[in-house]
Amino acid sequence: MKLVDTHNHLTGWSPDAEQTFGQLTASACERGLLGFAVSDHFDLDVTAEFEENPWVVDIPAYFDTFYERRRMPSRRKESDPPGFLLSLELGWTRQNGKQLQEINASYPFDYTIAAVHFYNGYDPYSNGEHIYTEKLGRLYSDIIGLIAQSAEELAESRIIAHYDFFSRYAPQMESKMTYRHAPDEFDALFRTMRENEQILEINTRTIDALHRRTCYSLEEAMPDADILRRYRELGGRFLTVASDAHSIGQNGHLAPEAVAYLNSLGFHEFAWFEDKKLHYSRV
Ligand SMILES: [Zn+2]
Ligand SMILES: [Zn+2]
Repeated sequence: MKLVDTHNHLTGWSPDAEQTFGQLTASACERGLLGFAVSDHFDLDVTAEFEENPWVVDIPAYFDTFYERRRMPSRRKESDPPGFLLSLELGWTRQNGKQLQEINASYPFDYTIAAVHFYNGYDPYSNGEHIYTEKLGRLYSDIIGLIAQSAEELAESRIIAHYDFFSRYAPQMESKMTYRHAPDEFDALFRTMRENEQILEINTRTIDALHRRTCYSLEEAMPDADILRRYRELGGRFLTVASDAHSIGQNGHLAPEAVAYLNSLGFHEFAWFEDKKLHYSRV
């Protein structure tokens, strides 16, 4: 599959991950991917019970370990192993934009990913009871509004991660995020993304979670078609399909199914970045 899985996590670098670099590489080989990236967590605002925040990658050590191992997917030959890129998932909050901008300016990541993991200081995985207290429509429009703000502040982060992250953990059976939940906020987000040449990530971990945790069939768990149509209407040309893999076997999971669905909506160009430059394949 001529796809680069742009979002994966490793044990030792992300506290919630359980796969080594070797295991991730083997998984990408098995799936026949064109390439994959590591993009561990950089979430500055996790204070909780830790003396040292484990959600913040030691960036110099990350570069020492992985920078020289990069292999550009665009230069890959048939017999080569999958390409390998170095990325970072920047957890944006209203407080940390400046610090994250500095990371973007200071380090030669192939690209960084902008993500929103917190709502009023709570993360949906551990503190859902503080988040899912109101109608999903209100929550989702707030979240997309925050993501729009993150895209604006982190203009150098070229991939916008899992817009639907908060739908993964909602207690409601019908938690899938739709365009109707937040039309104005989606429009603002997509306009900013066009301006900054940012790419929307289709996160198969969310698709998998919706399918497993709720009543959705796999097809129903796919991203809302209206969101993607609007993305295109407002200038969105490329997508990236990412597994957000945390453990063995998740890398590339549901990628063929997601691509088939996106093809049916007219999306055929799937992007990644090498040394901050956009590349894409037609699938
Ligand atoms: Zn994330
Ligand atoms: Zn992630």
